[in-house]
Amino acid sequence: MLGENNTPNNFKGQDGRYTSGEAMSSLKKVPRLSCDSFSYGAITLLLLTVALFSWFSSQYWLNQRIHLLLQDLQQQSQLVAMAASRELQNHTRTVENIAVALAGLSSTQQLLRNPRMTSRFNEDLQHYSQAFGLEDIWLVDGHGKVFAYGNRLPSSVNQALPLPPGKLTAILKDGSVHRFALDPDTGKPAFYYAFPLTRQKRIVAALIIKTSPNEMTNLVLHINTLVTDSDGVILLADKPEWMLHPLTPLLRKQPQDTLFPLLQGTSPLLPDIQLFGPQRLPIVQYQAEQPEADYRVHAIADAQPVYTLAENKDRLSGLVAVGVTGSLWGLILTVLTLKRNKKYRATMSRANDELVRLNQQLKSLATTDFLTYCPNRRSAETRLQQELANARRYGSPLCILTQDLDYFKHINDQYGHDVGDQVLQHFAKHIREAIRDTDLFARTGGEEFLLILPQTTLQQALPLTQRLLDNISATPLYLVDKTVSISFSGGLIQAHEDETMNELLARADRALYSAKEAGRCRIHTE
Ligand code: GH3
Ligand code: MG
Ligand code: MG
Repeated sequence: MLGENNTPNNFKGQDGRYTSGEAMSSLKKVPRLSCDSFSYGAITLLLLTVALFSWFSSQYWLNQRIHLLLQDLQQQSQLVAMAASRELQNHTRTVENIAVALAGLSSTQQLLRNPRMTSRFNEDLQHYSQAFGLEDIWLVDGHGKVFAYGNRLPSSVNQALPLPPGKLTAILKDGSVHRFALDPDTGKPAFYYAFPLTRQKRIVAALIIKTSPNEMTNLVLHINTLVTDSDGVILLADKPEWMLHPLTPLLRKQPQDTLFPLLQGTSPLLPDIQLFGPQRLPIVQYQAEQPEADYRVHAIADAQPVYTLAENKDRLSGLVAVGVTGSLWGLILTVLTLKRNKKYRATMSRANDELVRLNQQLKSLATTDFLTYCPNRRSAETRLQQELANARRYGSPLCILTQDLDYFKHINDQYGHDVGDQVLQHFAKHIREAIRDTDLFARTGGEEFLLILPQTTLQQALPLTQRLLDNISATPLYLVDKTVSISFSGGLIQAHEDETMNELLARADRALYSAKEAGRCRIHTE
C-alpha cells in the first residue's frame, strides 16, 4: 500500500529534490560542457604562447648547437693545420741538414774543384740517398745541367729537372731556396729542395733533393690538409685531384687558366663557412701562419653536418612548435573529454535513478486507487487469484467480503460530491487500520469495496466483519458543520474448493444484494 505522502499528483522523491518536470529537464540537458567563449579564448591564447615559446626556444637551442659545432670544427682544423705545418718545417730542417752534410763532404769539394771527378761523389750521393730515404738527388751546374745524381736508375733522371731553367737560375742566384712541385713523370706530389754550393764565394752549383713528404691526412677528424705555394696554387694535398688548382677565386688569372678555383666564396647561410669545389661543399678552412716560408698549410674541415643543421633550422623549429602545441592540445582535449564524461556519467546516473523511481510510481499508480489509496480492482483480482490458488493447493480456508456503502447517492446529493469523497476516504482509512497485514482491502467500484481474508474460515470471518460494520457505524465522519454517518452492507462468502474467481465474486454479490434487500447495514452469507 502507498504511504500517506504518495499522493498521485506529487512526484517528489524521498529526498524531496526532484519533481517529474525537473527529472525530464535534467534528462534533456545531459552532456553539455560549459565552455564559453572566454575559455575558448584562453585556450587559444595558451596554445599560441606555447607555439611561439617552443619556436623561439628551439631556434635559440639550435643556434647554440650550430655555434658550438662550428667552434669545434674551427679549433680542430686549426690544430690539424698547425700540426701539418710543424711536420713540414721539421722535414725541411732534416733535408737542410742532409744538404749541409753533403756540401761539406771532401768528394763534393773535390768535384767542385774538378768537375770530371764525379765517381766518388756519385757513390756518396747514392749512399745518402738510400740512407735517408730520399726520392732523388742531383747536382746541377750553374746553367742547370745535371752532372751528378744519386738515383740508382740514372736513365729516368738524366732527361731534365722538373724545375724550369729560369727558376733554377733564380734559385742559384737567390741562395738557399726550397720549393714544392709536382713530379711530371709520376703525377705524384713531391717536395724539391735546392741548395746552392759556393766556391770562392760564388754559387757554382746546386744540390736538388727530391723527397715525398709524409701523408698529412687526419682521418679521425675528417679534415684534409693541403699546401699552397705563395701564389695560392695547391702543390700538395691529401686528395690528388685538388693538385695544381688555385685555392681562392683571386687566382683566376694564373697560368692554370683552365682550372677553376676551389674556394667559391662564403656561404650566405653561415658566414664562417666557405663553399668548396664544383659541388660547393660547405667547409671550414684554417691557414697556418708561416711568415718566412713561401708556402701555406691549410686545413679543410667538412662542415656538411653543421650546414645541414643550419639549413633545416626553421623546419626543425616548426616541427618542435607543432609537436609541442599538438601534444598540449591533445592533453587539453583529453582532460576536457574526461571531465565531460565524468559529468555525463553523473547526470546519466541521476537521470537513471529518477527513471527507476518514476517507474515504480507509475507501477504503483496502475495498481492503486487515486482517491482512497486502496489497491484497485485489477490489483484486487490479481491477489484474489493468487489466494484462491494457495487455498486450493494447501487446502486452507479463504473468505471474501464485498461491501457497498448504504445510501451513498443520498450522501452525495445531500452534502455534495466533495463530502462524498471524504466519506469514501474516511471509510477506507478506517477499515484499513482495522484489518490484518495479510488481508487485502481494495476499492472495486464507486462506493464498492472488497475485503480478502486469507487463512480465515466463515466462522472466524463473521464476527470480524461484523465488528468492522459496528465500528464504522459508530464512527461517523465529523465535519465542521455536520456529521455524516456511514454504514455498509456486505456479502461474506467462504471459497469452495475448485471454485473460480468469478463464481466466488458472483456468490458474494448475491449475498450483498440480499443484505441490501433485507434493509442494509448488515452482512449476509449465502
Ligand atoms: P444503495 O444503498 O442501494 O447502495 O444506494 P446507493 O445510493 O448507495 O447506491 P447507488 O448505486 O444508487 O449510488 C451510488 C452512488 O455513488 C452513485 C455515484 O454518483 C456515487 N459515486 C460513485 N463513485 C463516487 C465517487 O468516487 N465519489 C463520490 N462522491 N460519489 C461517487
Ligand atoms: Mg453501489
Ligand atoms: Mg451503495
